[in-house]
Amino acid sequence: SLRRCFGVNREEPTKSPVIEINQLSQFFRQGQTRLEILKNVSLKIRAGEMVGLVGPSGSGKSTLLHLAGLLERPSGGKIVYKGQDCELMTDNERTKLRLQEIGFIYQFHHLLPEFSARDNVMMPQLIAGLTKNEAANRANQLLNMVGLSERGDHKPSQLSGGEKQRVAIVRSIANVPQLVLADEPTGNLDPLTSTQVFEQLRSVIKGGKLSALIATHNHQLAEKLDRIFKIEGGSLVEL
Ligand code: ADP
Ligand code: MG
Repeated sequence: SLRRCFGVNREEPTKSPVIEINQLSQFFRQGQTRLEILKNVSLKIRAGEMVGLVGPSGSGKSTLLHLAGLLERPSGGKIVYKGQDCELMTDNERTKLRLQEIGFIYQFHHLLPEFSARDNVMMPQLIAGLTKNEAANRANQLLNMVGLSERGDHKPSQLSGGEKQRVAIVRSIANVPQLVLADEPTGNLDPLTSTQVFEQLRSVIKGGKLSALIATHNHQLAEKLDRIFKIEGGSLVEL
């Protein structure tokens, strides 16, 4: 697994949930009206499990991923991460947990344009305290996993859309997170490239025995995951 390969000392997959989304609600105020985007949403994701999240634009997929990723605090309910209630944590504790345990992938790659693919994959590792040598070795192995071993020196502008997303995928797992949150990771790609990139995302996450919650418009891709949920009227419905 990724953990063994990179010498990261973390627990192996178990039956206990990595993340429990517990009776979560999110409201936004818009003038006089209160938008109820999520209403009492609950979901448990176990180690090694990949869950798909579908629903039309505006249904609350990104909102749920932000809450799950501890980027915001919910209006109601809580996120429990490996048994710890995240609503009881300070902002600093939440940030630390997020940096160490959660990887993010977005629709647009968000790679740093001035840096090479390898540097982009090294960056989170350097922030986490790895040496330059360790980070470069790991970045090379990760780029190799997604067929980009020859592209390490290339900047994002020299890569295709699919290649940039593959770099973003391995960057998200460079610190071997327990959980990957992906928000329409193939939403900006043509259908064929979408399928290829999605398959690579699935294989690196499965290979690393990581857990994931992946929002996508594409039901066909979502069907390749372990379970699929749809957000309907603020509630989660298992498909
Ligand atoms: P999706 O990702 O499924 O397209 P979002 O989670 O981005 O949906 O948005 C769900 C709804 O919540 C949308 O109507 C959006 O306008 C609204 N929304 C999201 N964030 C905010 C915010 N910070 N303030 C007000 N409304 C918001
Ligand atoms: Mg969204």
